[in-house]
Amino acid sequence: MNSPNPFVEIVELKGLSIRFILKNSNTAFANALRRIMISEVPVMAISDFAIINNTSPIFDEILVHRLSLIPLTTDLDGFNLPEKCVCKGIGCSRCQVTLILNVKAGDSPVTVYSRDIVSSDPRVIPINGDFPIAKLSAGDEILIEMYARLGRGKDNARFQPVSACAYKYFPRIVINTSSCVKCTNNGILKCVSECPKGVLDVNVETGYPYLRDPLNCSLCKACVDVCEYNAIELKPDDTSFIFYVESTGSLPLHKIIYTAATILAEKCDEFLSKIGGFR
Ligand code: SF4
Ligand code: SF4
Ligand SMILES: [Zn+2]
Repeated sequence: MNSPNPFVEIVELKGLSIRFILKNSNTAFANALRRIMISEVPVMAISDFAIINNTSPIFDEILVHRLSLIPLTTDLDGFNLPEKCVCKGIGCSRCQVTLILNVKAGDSPVTVYSRDIVSSDPRVIPINGDFPIAKLSAGDEILIEMYARLGRGKDNARFQPVSACAYKYFPRIVINTSSCVKCTNNGILKCVSECPKGVLDVNVETGYPYLRDPLNCSLCKACVDVCEYNAIELKPDDTSFIFYVESTGSLPLHKIIYTAATILAEKCDEFLSKIGGFR
């Protein structure tokens, strides 16, 4: 690690998504954090099913697939991972929740939504009641008993707590005004018109380009390539990373990031204790 003190600056926090900058760090740490958020932070998901009746036009397999991908609210501290539970994974109230989907259409068609799922535990319910599951014709019925448990994204995508989790290098862009000749294309500064991300704009006072929104830079280098006077320098900063993380809604963002960092710390502790034995 380049510095013993990596730190985080939150750029934007909006509902289920966050954009933050991880500073004074390195690619190995940033990538480990990203991968753990995606694949190792556990969340609740429906993983076992007993289909008692399904006369809908949807095949059982498709129905089960849809239901398993509905994000459920997760109380990480209230449940055990099945493999670490006292029941040894057989299924008990400390590691498993039962949910029932029981909808029967009367004389007219009915749409089945996630709000029709009834949970035996109010801590574990669909994060949103508006997910459509199936359309039933008059007289059709769906009756399914389901079992939710904690799991990890590396075992099955249904347990992934994030719908997006990515980072990019922080862009270091320098515009050298002593080399810039303010060249234009159809009246717009060439580098400004070439930038696909709206990062560059013209400074109305000086007429030179300036960085209006550097965090939006995709490091595509189009501005560097279009500048015939080498007035733009672009260098990815491999000690700072712009993260974008979006929760599925199962866990709050701070819990996902905190849990991922804790898991990473535990892995490091385990590694250190193992190599300590070789001293
Ligand atoms: S392309 Fe180069 S020379 Fe032209 S305005 Fe941009 S920085 Fe200046
Ligand atoms: S590297 Fe690409 S996105 Fe970034 S400022 Fe230049 S043209 Fe815009
Ligand atoms: Zn159990």
